[in-house]
Amino acid sequence: MYDVIIIGAGPAGLSAAIYAGRARLKTLLIEKAADGGQIAATSEIENYPGGMLEDESGQTLISRKAEQAARFGAERVYGTVESVALTGHVKTVTCAGDEISSKTVIIAAGAHPRPIGCKNEAAFVGRGISYCATCDANFFRNKEVFVVGGGDAAVEEAIYLTKFARSVTVIHRRDKLRAAKSIQEKAFANEKIKFIWDSVIESVDGNGVLNTMTIRNVKTDVLTDIHADENDKVFGLFGYLGLLPNSALFKDVLPLENGYIRTDEDMRTNIPGVFAAGDIRVKSLRQVITAAADGAIAAVQAEKYISDM
Ligand code: NAP
Repeated sequence: MYDVIIIGAGPAGLSAAIYAGRARLKTLLIEKAADGGQIAATSEIENYPGGMLEDESGQTLISRKAEQAARFGAERVYGTVESVALTGHVKTVTCAGDEISSKTVIIAAGAHPRPIGCKNEAAFVGRGISYCATCDANFFRNKEVFVVGGGDAAVEEAIYLTKFARSVTVIHRRDKLRAAKSIQEKAFANEKIKFIWDSVIESVDGNGVLNTMTIRNVKTDVLTDIHADENDKVFGLFGYLGLLPNSALFKDVLPLENGYIRTDEDMRTNIPGVFAAGDIRVKSLRQVITAAADGAIAAVQAEKYISDM
């Protein structure tokens, strides 16, 4: 019997593990893939307060957090959670066929990238289409790449891609970016970055690899075909259209708002002993710092719940 099971080892889950371990709670941290979630795919972190280390990436920050969680005694399981039973004093989480019991559960399962939503998208994922510049930028050295979206992620990763690609074109459905002004300024000042405004991608195509796409101007409905340069034979298309919460497992168990889990400011869901932290919950700012803060609060509240039991 664990005191706390934490689902997800991103910034929220790792912070919860650090705080729970430090409170001497018997802690299990479950992660289905690599630690870090979305931040592991981020090339540069410049707004984590105090985090001004040279070359700080999502990976470097997360590996230090994971080491810190291990130092405070958090146990680890790598596997996908298949089901949960959260009501009652003893909660169970089934992972890789094993039923694991705990007094409390912290859900920190995060979110994943929204697909571009164009025709043929699935056929070209890994063959020109990517949702992770850190992972795939290197494949497009001296080639043309396109980034879809206008938020922080799209614009930051467009800037990162200029270190590899010959040119980077941001395609956005409006004529204004959503990204923070400081990020916008850097992008507008970067000679390698161009913009196609008021446009969405209708379809992609190619001969094994991505070399053609059709974009539609949403104001005029005019369709334009874009073809890969003859010498390149391929171009990159990076989707950064926001997030979808990883909450399918909880849809019949917890109240969701647009798929996000509702909590109070102490990360409590409406089931006693069950907390949610980080990008998976309803909140106004999804950042490493807010995820980390959520994780800390959830762990402290889990400890309080156990001592009140
Ligand atoms: P986001 O802020 O939700 O931006 C999504 C972008 O995709 C928006 O520009 C949106 O257009 C566009 N979009 C959404 N659905 C679309 C569709 N179906 N077709 C075409 N375009 C579509 O997502 P994000 O940039 O991934 O960021 C997610 C969260 O992480 C945000 O809270 C963000 O602040 C945070 N983040 C922060 C940093 C940082 O601080 N350095 C870096 C990365 C992410 P509209 O603008 O027209 O809605």
